[in-house]
Amino acid sequence: MEAEAPRQINYLRMSITDRCQLRCVYCTYWREWEKQPPAEILRYEELLRLAAVAAEAGVRKVRVTGGEPLLRRGLMGFLQELKRLPGINQVCLTTNGALLRELAPALYNTGVRHLNVSLDTLKQDRYRQITGSDNLPAVMAGLERAASLGFHPLKINCVVLRGINDDEVLDIARLARERPLQVRFIELMPTTSRTWWQRHFLSMTEVRQRLAVLGPLEPLAREAAAGPARTFRLPGFRGELGFISPMSEHHCRTCNRLRLSSDGKIRPCLLGSQELDLKEPLRQGGSDGFIGFLFQEAIRLKHRKTGHSLACSGSCFRDLPMVSIGG
Ligand code: SAM
Repeated sequence: MEAEAPRQINYLRMSITDRCQLRCVYCTYWREWEKQPPAEILRYEELLRLAAVAAEAGVRKVRVTGGEPLLRRGLMGFLQELKRLPGINQVCLTTNGALLRELAPALYNTGVRHLNVSLDTLKQDRYRQITGSDNLPAVMAGLERAASLGFHPLKINCVVLRGINDDEVLDIARLARERPLQVRFIELMPTTSRTWWQRHFLSMTEVRQRLAVLGPLEPLAREAAAGPARTFRLPGFRGELGFISPMSEHHCRTCNRLRLSSDGKIRPCLLGSQELDLKEPLRQGGSDGFIGFLFQEAIRLKHRKTGHSLACSGSCFRDLPMVSIGG
């Protein structure tokens, strides 16, 4: 039997803030969640130093996320610096899109082209129910602006919630008919109470069944640095559809990412509890060599894992505020 080639852990998701103007039901669910004091959040120069060390450890792609990254002042300068780091050949951003209409041109000028926008509904009352805000028109205008500026790939992330937005999957998928964007449906992860998750979880198998009326899904080849989405083309669509199934079909064996929380903890697995603190060594004079060693340690821990505890046992619902870890 041929031995599997060891996977390259080459993708770092960096949460640069735990602030967000939205309160999405699945993300800031935990009432006791509190924002970190500003001093606990890594400064841009600290983030850049970590990214440089990560590049030395083999990271090639960095996704900037949060919280809501567009809320952090000085973001554009930071992105420019990040793009200039030797070894980092892709910088991407994930946003809720509420400030995109205003900030898309400045973002485009940084050279960032890979943009993910979260959008779970096209209905204003639902948007309010899911996010606690009235930003839907702003997000839609931001998406249009980003598309017209030429961000590519431009992806929409939609978490499907049974009984809340699952009747909209066709309408949301159709956003990719006229526009060259990728609409990705995502399974709800158990960052909420067990009962809430059980009530609202919907598998991607079911979502795909509901989309069957749009025509046959033609699978697209996976790119080497691709994320966990399975992507498809549909006849007559300019864009693509993607499906992300962290629960029903967890992709741990191929997962190539590390996550850095806004307060400087590195996590080998989003849904695991292991994390290594990088802020303390950063601020206590730790050398790049030592910080690099911690990165390598996170990579080693990741190689040892073959599945996240939630998908395996389904019995471990915990306080997991995505808003600070970075989804
Ligand atoms: N504020 C930015 C945004 O809204 O895209 C970036 C941070 S947000 C935490 C990133 C992504 O995590 C979003 O696409 C969101 O839908 C996803 N997310 C958060 N909690 C989730 C959960 N329980 N299950 C699935 N996706 C989740």
